[in-house]
Amino acid sequence: MNPFFARLNFSSAQATMRRLDKAFQAFFRRVKAGEEPGYPRFKGRDRFDGFTYPSVGDGARIIGNKLRLQHIGLVRINLHREIEGEIKTLSVKRQGGKWYGVAACELPDVEIRPSDRPIAGLDVGLESFVTHDEGDAEPPLQPLKRVLKHLRVAQRSLSRKKLGGSNRRKQKLKVAALHAKVANTRRDEHHKLAAKLTHRYGGIVVESLNIRGMVKNPKLARAVSDAGWGQFLTILKHKAAGAGVQFREVNARGTSQTCPACGAVAKKTLAQRRHVCACGYTAHRDQAAAQVILARGLLAGMRPVGLNADVGRHDPRSRLL
Ligand SMILES: [Zn+2]
Repeated sequence: MNPFFARLNFSSAQATMRRLDKAFQAFFRRVKAGEEPGYPRFKGRDRFDGFTYPSVGDGARIIGNKLRLQHIGLVRINLHREIEGEIKTLSVKRQGGKWYGVAACELPDVEIRPSDRPIAGLDVGLESFVTHDEGDAEPPLQPLKRVLKHLRVAQRSLSRKKLGGSNRRKQKLKVAALHAKVANTRRDEHHKLAAKLTHRYGGIVVESLNIRGMVKNPKLARAVSDAGWGQFLTILKHKAAGAGVQFREVNARGTSQTCPACGAVAKKTLAQRRHVCACGYTAHRDQAAAQVILARGLLAGMRPVGLNADVGRHDPRSRLL
């Protein structure tokens, strides 16, 4: 028996084993499905970047501005915001050479609030990060590009460092810190935009994305994974739930190839930036897609909630589908 294990919290070790089990289950599922399997990889201590306490109080607890971890002791923490609700699980993770604690809390459901704000269809894309059905567009997240450039330089320098050397170790930390910066900047931007949208609308319709399928297209891959739509939509969903704003995901099939005015199929290549339909309706292609998304949400039963809600704008018959 490795004496190291005696110093672990039982539930935490169990949670790690569950993660390993999940990795193997996924591996066997991929083998069965005939996909490229990718064998679960051994995580040495340089790569092992976190552990979880599945139930708070068992091995970990927050006391004031300190975190108590079994066998480690009291650790001073920098509480980034007030803890709301009841903490369910606590994770500790390492990112870019720094340690973070992540508390997952359970909050009571917020009821959908009556609102005279409109329901919006939103399309996520590359040209604009988000296009509203009314035509407004949120630009792609620019600050990321600068950090990514630094990251590429740092990575190149890392690949030239001698294996096992201390310089390589140092450079590795630098690269990890930059990765963390990219991830943090992106998450930050996603939170800001999600907050803006949930303030503006009483309901939000988006398409449910098959990010995996899109990442398989090698031309789009880099841009798609940089865009991080999946993360953004998850954040948006949670922000909406917390603000009592309606939220719905609709089928993404053909949203960019359908005319929002007449429902006809209007085929276009990625290079064609305008939707032009035989019925006479034309719009920017992303706006047209957002309008199709909105119409699908309304057909699925989304309704304005509130006395002053502008029903006319949301009559799905005005946008047949
Ligand atoms: Zn049309």
